[in-house]
Formats: sequence, structure tokens, C-alpha cells
Amino acid sequence: MTTGQVAWPAADLVGGAPFLDLANTVGGRTKAREMDRLASYPALVAWAQAAGVVSAAEADTLFAAATAGAAAAERCLQEVRAFREALYRLLSPMAAGRAPQETDLDQVNRAIAKACAAARLAWTGKRFVRSVGLDDVGLEVILCRVALSALRLLDAEDLDRLRECERCSWLFFDRSKNGRRRWCRMDACGNRAKAERHYRKNG
Ligand SMILES: [Zn+2]
Repeated sequence: MTTGQVAWPAADLVGGAPFLDLANTVGGRTKAREMDRLASYPALVAWAQAAGVVSAAEADTLFAAATAGAAAAERCLQEVRAFREALYRLLSPMAAGRAPQETDLDQVNRAIAKACAAARLAWTGKRFVRSVGLDDVGLEVILCRVALSALRLLDAEDLDRLRECERCSWLFFDRSKNGRRRWCRMDACGNRAKAERHYRKNG
């Protein structure tokens, strides 16, 4: 990494899919989505690399492009943030078994349409995948790839297993055997909730 950007902690990638991990780049601790961890375009690139959305070589290209075109990178970051919040507004009710709002679906669909327009088939060595090339869309590659991940998984996954942490706003697919995962991370929200219960009982 060339920017001195701190690597994204792997333990915070709890969503089970890139579009959920993007939604989880805000907050922690409470339901208030007030702590934005994507403070800059390079922070977005560091997240994308940790989440497997871009390779290390692509990340270096994007860091350089963001330095050369700071205004374009800032616009792109704003677009990703807007997409992220639309995703959260779309998925949070669904995790609670409620229908999503049409306006949020429209906003997510606009990003998906942009990604699909730039997408092509790529050969992985084993199979074909629908992918967006860095050369095709430049700084927008992260937005496009995450939008494709949302299309692929929301179309195919059993959304009965989509959950929102009972304590904070993080979303995840519950792939546990018994389907009773309640927390984003047991060592974060799970332990804090347990401690609170303990204080309430004993304090
Ligand atoms: Zn949580």
C-alpha cells in the first residue's frame, strides 16, 4: 500500500458478502449510523482490498488515480456513500421481515444498472463470472463490483437468513447451523449486550 492507509481489519468483515460489508462501513456500538469509516477515497480502497473487491495491484492503481484526480475521487466516494445508505435502508427492513421502500430500491437499482452496463464476462480459469474491469470504469470500479455482488446475491440467497445485529446497524447473512446468530461480532456487540444484562440484573 502506498498511501500509508491503515489496512481494514479482517475481523470487521462479518457480512458474508461485499455489499453487506460495504453497508457495515458505518457505525458500530449503536443503531445510530453516525461514525463513517470511509473518511476518504483511499479508505474506501483499503476496505475494498480487504473485502476482496479489488486486488492489491488494482488498489495501488486506484490510490494513484485518487491522488491524481482528487475531485473525481471525492465525487465517487459520495456516490458510494449514497449507494451504501440506500442499501442499508433497503435491507434493514427486510432483515426485520418488512417490505422495502420503492425509492430505496430505485436508488440501488440505478447503481446496479450502471454496473451492468459496464459488465462483461471474465474467465477465472475455472468458470465465467460477470465482472467490471478497472480499465473500463476507473475510480468507479468498487461501486460497480459491489453493486454486482448485491444483484447476484439478493437474486439468489435465501433472505430469511439476512439479519441486522440486535445492537448495532451491521447486516450479515446468518450462515450458522441453527440460524440463531444475533450479533455482528460476539466479541463486540455480543459481549456488550451480555455485560449490560449482567449490570441490569445485579446493579
Ligand atoms: Zn453489532
